[in-house]
Amino acid sequence: MNGSRIDEVRKRMLHLRIDALIVSSISNIRYLTSFSGSHALCIITSRSLFFLTDPRYGNHSSREVRGFKRIVSGGSLIDAARNKGVFTKCKRVGFEAGHSTYATYRSLKRALPAARFVATDNLIEDITVAKSPLELRQIRRAVSISDEVFTMLLGIIKPGVRECDVAAEISYQHRRLGADADAFEPIVASGVRGALPHARATTRKVKSGEMVTLDFGCRVNGFHSDMTRTVAVGKVTRKARQVYAAVLEAQQRAVTAARTEMRVSDLDKIARDCIKAHGYGRYFIHSLGHGLGINLHEKPRISKMSDERLRADSVVTIEPGVYIDGFGGVRIEDDLLLTRHGSEVLTRSPKELMIL
Ligand code: ZN
Ligand code: ZN
Repeated sequence: MNGSRIDEVRKRMLHLRIDALIVSSISNIRYLTSFSGSHALCIITSRSLFFLTDPRYGNHSSREVRGFKRIVSGGSLIDAARNKGVFTKCKRVGFEAGHSTYATYRSLKRALPAARFVATDNLIEDITVAKSPLELRQIRRAVSISDEVFTMLLGIIKPGVRECDVAAEISYQHRRLGADADAFEPIVASGVRGALPHARATTRKVKSGEMVTLDFGCRVNGFHSDMTRTVAVGKVTRKARQVYAAVLEAQQRAVTAARTEMRVSDLDKIARDCIKAHGYGRYFIHSLGHGLGINLHEKPRISKMSDERLRADSVVTIEPGVYIDGFGGVRIEDDLLLTRHGSEVLTRSPKELMIL
C-alpha cells in the first residue's frame, strides 16, 4: 500500500462528499494496491481499505496486497462487500464512471438500494500524473528495454520479412529483456499500410523502397513505454524523405518546446504548424501525444482541444505523424519526462532517417 496515494484519494473523496469509492479499473487497482492480477475490486472508505478478488487470486493477492482488508469470494464482489459490511453507514458511494459498465451500475443499485451513487471522473488518473521516483524507475526501465528492442529490429527488417515476423520479434524480445508484457499489440505498417495510424501487423512482406512504421512499447511492474520509429528499407522516394523531414522537424520542435505549466494545446500547435508549413497539415490526423504511466494512455491528452497544462514529474509522448492514403505514412514518438526545470527525452533511439 502506498499511504500518500491513499491520502490523496481520500482528500478528493472528501471534496466530493463520498463515503466510499469503488475502484474497478484494474490498472488503478494496481496503482493503489500493487496487485498484478486481472480481476479485483478495491473499496476505499474514510476509515478502511478493502481489496476483493476471486479464489484464483486468493494466494496471489495475499503476497502482493498489503494494508487492505482482503475479501476473497467466488460470487459477485459487490455482494461480498455488502455482506461483509463494507458499506455500513455509507450514504454516498462513488464509482469510476469511465471504467464501469451499465450492468455493474445496475448490480450496484440492486445491492445497495439506499445508497446515492456518485459518478467520478479521472479521480485516480489525476493522482497518477505526477510520478514518484520509484515509478519513474519502472518507466525508464520499460523505455530502455524498448530502445534495445528497436536496435535489434534494425538487423531483421529487410526486403521479404513479413510484418507479423517483426511484430513477433518485438514481443519476444520485450519478454526476453525482462518486461512483463507488450504495452499493446505492436504496430508494424509497411509501404502503403503506413497510412493507417493503428495498422495491425499482417503477413505482408516488406519491399525495398518502402517505409516501415514501428510503434511498440512494454510494461515493467505495471508501468509503460511507448515509442515509434519509421525506417526506410532501401532507397525511398523524394516525397517519402520530405514527409519524414516534416515529421521529424515537428517532433523535435515540440520536444524542445515542452515545459512544465505550458498549455498542451500550445504544444500541439507547435508541431501542427510545422507540419502545415511543410504542406502536410491535413494529413496529421490525431493529437500530438498523451500521458504515459500505469496506464498506456493517461492524462493529459496533448490536443488542441484540451485546456490542460503540462505537469512536473509527468511523462508524456510526443508523436506527430503524417498519413497519406495510397502513399504511406511516417510517425516518430518519444517519451518525455517533464521536470521542474525543463524536460528529459527518455527514448534514446536515433531519429534521423535510417536506411536499412
Ligand atoms: Zn505509440
Ligand atoms: Zn503513444
